[in-house]
This record gives sequence, structure tokens and C-alpha cells, in this order.
Amino acid sequence: MYAQNLQSIEFAEHENNYIATTLKLMTELGFVVRDTFKNNMNLDDFYSNGNKYNGARLFRIKWIDTTDSGYAEVQAKRAYKIKNYSSQAYDDYTILMLQKYKAQYREDPIIHECVHFLQHATHKDESNYIDFTGKNYREYVMQRTELEAHLVQILYIVKNNHERLKKHLSREQQLKLEKIISEYKKSRNILAGVEAIIMCKQGGLI
Ligand SMILES: [Zn+2]
Repeated sequence: MYAQNLQSIEFAEHENNYIATTLKLMTELGFVVRDTFKNNMNLDDFYSNGNKYNGARLFRIKWIDTTDSGYAEVQAKRAYKIKNYSSQAYDDYTILMLQKYKAQYREDPIIHECVHFLQHATHKDESNYIDFTGKNYREYVMQRTELEAHLVQILYIVKNNHERLKKHLSREQQLKLEKIISEYKKSRNILAGVEAIIMCKQGGLI
């Protein structure tokens, strides 16, 4: 019976690989994983599983043609608080990934959205969230949730997509990026992180 229960809370293979990769990179950068995310129990999907914990994992990555914003997006039926846990949990969380990224062999936008699924966030973080308007990039990426998601995304490209890295950053910029990332790991200096993100954005890497 116990083994059966354990099986039911496993992620689908595809999603599981992205989650494992993202967790590794988050740990490398020292980012906090939400306390409502556990490998051996499912505190998410409570409502869709008939008001029960440890139900089936409903987290999914879906490929679609368009989203309203033209960027990858996430949807959850709801975010909810659980007594004695500091992070919120999510019911039926779906990442909507644009087909155009698949055509470009890009997986880094998936990793970015997986960070949002896994990182610590509270209701307050969400209500204070500043959307990207096209003009407020610095302010937008300085938010902890976005800073984390962007840096993990960049680290993923650095480790896994050398083609893309070479296409968008000069050798000099690549060395600078590596230096900033290793400095960031030690200092957790937000401004260093933002500097790396802005350089990658300007180069069209992300
Ligand atoms: Zn984001």
C-alpha cells in the first residue's frame, strides 16, 4: 500500500527531469526552495485532488502556440497557505511554453518557469509583484522572485547551451558572465546579479 502511495505522487517523467535540473541549479546558486515542495509528499494539488494531500501531481508543462503576452506563462488554479508552512502551495500548476522556443531548441524558458514553481513565495510576494511593462526591466528583475528565475535560466544556458551562449555573447562577455556568477555565489550581491541579467538581456541571450 505504501509503495502505491509513493508512486502516485511522482511527477511524470518529462516534468520530473526539468524539476530535478532546476532544483540542482537553485541549490548551486543558494536559492531557497519552498517548504511546501517535498519529494516524498505532495502538498500541492489539494483542491483538485478532492481536498486531500498526497494526491496525484498535477504540475504540467504544456506546449502551445501563443499566450496573451507572447512570453511563456504559468497558470495555477489557486495558490494557498498551509498551516505551519511559510511558502504557499499550488493547485494544478501549469507552465505554458511557446512552440517558438521548441523550434529554437530552447529549454531555458522552461527552467525559468520551473524556478517560479519551486521557489519560496508568499501571498504578499505575489500581491507586490511588479509586471514587466517594456520599460522597467531593472526594477522587474530586481524582485527576488525574478532575480532567482533569471539567474537560474542563465546558469542553465551557460552549462547546457554553448551554441546559444556563443551566438549572443562575445568571448569577453562570456568570461565576464562566468566571473559575475562565481562572485554572486559568494556575495549574493543583488546588483551583481542584476548586472549579469542585463548583459544577457542586451545580448539577446534571454
Ligand atoms: Zn519570471
